[in-house]
Amino acid sequence: MLEEIISHFGERILVLRHDVDNVYDIAGGRSPFAKKIANFILLASGRIGDLASLITPSRLDHLQMILDLEEAQGARATFFFRSVTAPTEKLASKLEGSGHRVGYHADDVCVKDFIGDLSFLERISNRKPRSFTGHGFAKIRGGGKYDEKLMIALGRIAGLDILAQGSGHPEWAVPRRIAGIWVFGHSRSLKKSVLEEIIEYATGPRIPLLLIHPEDLWKEEGNGWKWFEVLLSKFRCLPVEEVVDVLTKLLNEGT
Ligand SMILES: [Zn+2]
Repeated sequence: MLEEIISHFGERILVLRHDVDNVYDIAGGRSPFAKKIANFILLASGRIGDLASLITPSRLDHLQMILDLEEAQGARATFFFRSVTAPTEKLASKLEGSGHRVGYHADDVCVKDFIGDLSFLERISNRKPRSFTGHGFAKIRGGGKYDEKLMIALGRIAGLDILAQGSGHPEWAVPRRIAGIWVFGHSRSLKKSVLEEIIEYATGPRIPLLLIHPEDLWKEEGNGWKWFEVLLSKFRCLPVEEVVDVLTKLLNEGT
């Protein structure tokens, strides 16, 4: 199936996952202290902060640089938003207009909060996401340890169909469907890898998934940015939804 997917797109692909964790660009060394404080307050205050931040002009403006770069390279991605970083309808339309998708970055794994946060994201963005990821290791409103079974159960309850965490199944060549949810089995992160590792991963016998937080582009004084440009030039970058749709189509044709 991997060969069929690559031949469908005509080149090697790289599936892009952007987790939008922060309301403001808080990249090390670049941001004023006041911005970091504002970011902290908004994240800590949850939904009330989100409503307040809707009237803040510079909210989520750090996405613009990624959007410009991807647009210039013809790259597309899935942006996963927390309830606290939910995009306005205007921003969501802009993303989709450039071929990107809006996904859900879940802060919490208790059913009530998982559904409540998703509903909030849907209301603010006027979109219904299909894909989701979990927000781990966060000091504020963190979802706790990643548990695939629990995430699949939550996804089913919420009517989502793609879990793009990319964890637990390094041997999978392509995503698999478990209990009605498409699951990506592995991933790499720009923050935790070097360029050579990502290229080796993305050219191996698998559909590669790469996690990039907007602020990761400033890793090691701009190396992240340079690496991302190399990756965009080498691979056809796609959102998770599109790859799953092609996979589904190819599987249906094969049966
Ligand atoms: Zn996160």
